[in-house]
Amino acid sequence: MRAWHVEAPGPVTGHPMRLHSDDETPRPGPGELLLQVLACGVCRTDLHVTEGDLPPHQSGVTPGHEVVGEVAAVGEGDTAGFRPGDRAGGAWLRSTDNTCTFCRRDAENLCPASTYTGWDADGGYAEYMTVPAAYAHRLPPGYTNEELAPLLCAGIIGYRALKRAELPPNGRLGIYGFGGSAHLAAQVALARGATVHVLTRGEQAKRLALELGAASVGEADGMPPEPLDAAILFAPVGDLVLPALAALDRGGTLSIAGIHLTDIPPLNYEKHLFQERQLRSVTSNTREDAREFLGFAASHKLKITVHPYPLDHADQAQRDLKAGRFDGAAVLIP
Ligand SMILES: [Zn+2]
Ligand SMILES: [Zn+2]
Repeated sequence: MRAWHVEAPGPVTGHPMRLHSDDETPRPGPGELLLQVLACGVCRTDLHVTEGDLPPHQSGVTPGHEVVGEVAAVGEGDTAGFRPGDRAGGAWLRSTDNTCTFCRRDAENLCPASTYTGWDADGGYAEYMTVPAAYAHRLPPGYTNEELAPLLCAGIIGYRALKRAELPPNGRLGIYGFGGSAHLAAQVALARGATVHVLTRGEQAKRLALELGAASVGEADGMPPEPLDAAILFAPVGDLVLPALAALDRGGTLSIAGIHLTDIPPLNYEKHLFQERQLRSVTSNTREDAREFLGFAASHKLKITVHPYPLDHADQAQRDLKAGRFDGAAVLIP
C-alpha cells in the first residue's frame, strides 16, 4: 500500500515526508480495526509532527488523525460491535490506560499514558491503518467522506474548546482566529443561541464568518463591539491572549484551543484577570467529547468547506496549509 512517512522532521519546504508505495498493509491486532482510508484530513497538528515542533514519538511515523475509513478487517476479541463494511472514524486520541486518576475521573484526555494517532502510531496519510476499536467513532449520516474528515479533530477540539469556555446560555462569544476548528465551533455556538463575534485576519475568513451568522467581524487584535462572556483563542498566537482577556466581561472565560502557542506577554492583573476572569487551556479531548460533537453533527447539518488533494500530494497540502493558501480544511483522498 501507499503511505507517507516523516523521515526527517523539519520545515515542510524541505520535503521531510516521503511517500512509500510498497508498504505492507498492517494487520489488526486484538481489539483493533483495519480501516481502508476513504478520506483523511490535514490538521495543523500534522504539520507540528512533520516539522518536529512536536518531538518525534515514532521514527518514520505516518501522520494523519482525521481518518474516515471503511472497516476492512477486525482483530481478535472485542471490537466494539464494528463489522467489516462499517464506516468508522479514527481520531487523535488513540488509547489511554483506563486506570489512572485522570481516566477514573472522566478526564482521559489528561491520561499520562495516552497515545495519539499519527504521532505514536501510524495514521491516515495512507491507504490502510489500524485503530483500537474502543477508540474508533461511529460517524453521522448526511455527510460525504471528505466532509466528515475535519469533524474528527478540528470539529471535536473546537467543541471541547467551546465547552471549556463555559459560555452561558444565549451568551456573547468571541472567536479569535477563524480556520477549520473555529468555523465548526462557531456553528455549534450559533445553533445554541449565542451571539458570536469573530476576530481574525483575512477577508475570506471574515466573509465566511458573516455567512455563517456572526454578529460582527474585526481584526484579531481589535476589540469586539460588546464585552464577551466567553472567548476561544484558535490562532496559535500568544500575543492575542491579552486583547482577548481584556475583551471579557466580569467572570468571563478565555479558552485556548491549540496544542501549540507562542509565548504569552506579561499580563496586567487589573486589565486582564481581575473580576474573576479565567484563562484555560484545552488538551486533546475525551471520547465523550467526540460522541457529543458527532451526535450534534447528526442532528444539525454543519457547513464544512473542504479542499480535496490526492493522497500523493499530501506534502503539497501541508505546504499550502502552512502558507495559508486556503480556508476550510484540506482532505487527502487515496
Ligand atoms: Zn489514564
Ligand atoms: Zn488535529
